[in-house]
Amino acid sequence: MGDRERNKKRLLELLQAAGTGNSHCADCGAADPDWASYKLGVFICLNCCGVHRNFPDISKVKSVRLDFWDDSIVEFMTRNGNLHVKAKFEARVPAFYYIPQANDCLVLKEQWIRAKYERREFMADGETISLPGNREGFLWKRGRNNSQFLRRRFVLLAREGLLKYYTKEEVEVQKSITEVGQELTELGERLVDIVRSLQSQRPLSESGPDNELSILGKLVTSDAAAGKIKDILHDLEEIQEKLRENFSWKEAPEAPTQREHLEAQSSSSCPMSDQSPALRRASHFAQWAINPTFNLKSLSCSLEVSRDFHTVTVSPRPQPYRGSCERFSTSQVLCSQALSSGKHYWEVDTRNCSHWAVGVASWEMSRDQVLGRTTDSCCVEWKGTNQLSAWHMVKETVLGSDRPGVVGIWLNLEEGKLAFYSVDNQEKLLYECTISASSPLHPAFWLYGLHPGNYLIIKQVKV
Ligand SMILES: [Zn+2]
Repeated sequence: MGDRERNKKRLLELLQAAGTGNSHCADCGAADPDWASYKLGVFICLNCCGVHRNFPDISKVKSVRLDFWDDSIVEFMTRNGNLHVKAKFEARVPAFYYIPQANDCLVLKEQWIRAKYERREFMADGETISLPGNREGFLWKRGRNNSQFLRRRFVLLAREGLLKYYTKEEVEVQKSITEVGQELTELGERLVDIVRSLQSQRPLSESGPDNELSILGKLVTSDAAAGKIKDILHDLEEIQEKLRENFSWKEAPEAPTQREHLEAQSSSSCPMSDQSPALRRASHFAQWAINPTFNLKSLSCSLEVSRDFHTVTVSPRPQPYRGSCERFSTSQVLCSQALSSGKHYWEVDTRNCSHWAVGVASWEMSRDQVLGRTTDSCCVEWKGTNQLSAWHMVKETVLGSDRPGVVGIWLNLEEGKLAFYSVDNQEKLLYECTISASSPLHPAFWLYGLHPGNYLIIKQVKV
């Protein structure tokens, strides 16, 4: 047997050798490949061979059956082989990467072969690192019904191992509007404050001794400026009002509303009439109902807030929020709404939280203190020890062992009163106290930080 025949026989045996992976194409998995890249040391099918042939820098091919193989190349193929080379070039193919199959089109195979051998994207020491987590971006995808290419948002969900694409982008837009809405509302409030303070400072600064302008000029300037400031303030207050309407009050959470909840209770458990205490309470307070939103600047790193700013959850791991003196070091959060006058009512669903406190606090409340343990905060608290307490002026009052599911908070700043109600089945006054707030009060919350997944919801009270 000559070298040619002997080496061909060795190669054919090598193709069938157990544990080598040579019986299927190294690139597309097609059975019984009879070509090989003698530069890379892999056996490949005729189709993939066509791709390899186009890239002589990365690969050189021969037919197992038709070409001449000398001893050194046969030995090289024996030392390497499909599985051996795969371990090197496919060390870290991302879970979501589509590896073409035998019957896939040539374009896919070419992309795969070039990514693998030319760009060496999947080698263990390669430079391209595929980070875990979700990815998203835009691709142009050919429409199903016509051949037009359309821009589509693709989202890769790492946990589900799915690649999804969206034909509409409204969902994302809607979310960002909500976020922008809260930022705008806060900005509006700050602008109003600034303009108001300018309005009050202006006469002082203009009567300063250094002003060289003529008295007449000064008066004209001053009047015109004051008028302008007044106009701006008026415009700002209007914008602020619109923003509040759109982004705070009207944004309905998906949970059933309080009224629906009460109606469900009344039809299933006890047939209450319209005059039942709960409905009287709802109708009594509904006109002062507000729908406060959690403030991200005060949010503790152990908590997370839903996109609609109405649910706060204990996070399984500390969140990398920006450090700030406004952020609680304990697992607490305030709402953005500063309540300084009038009457306000809101409800908190505490049923999915084993340890909680709800109440009010001034924005200046010390960020390393706990609700109720400062003179500028007040709350009712359920600590999971079957005890409900109220904390007011750093003093605890034990209220009993009944756990309220939904707590209604009634803040009447006209009369200087704060009251807490249990409102899930029947209305029950839990605690009432007088308050004299020297600065605006914000709805305030505490959740026990060691129970990940526990959450509180600010419910929308239906009018
Ligand atoms: Zn192939």
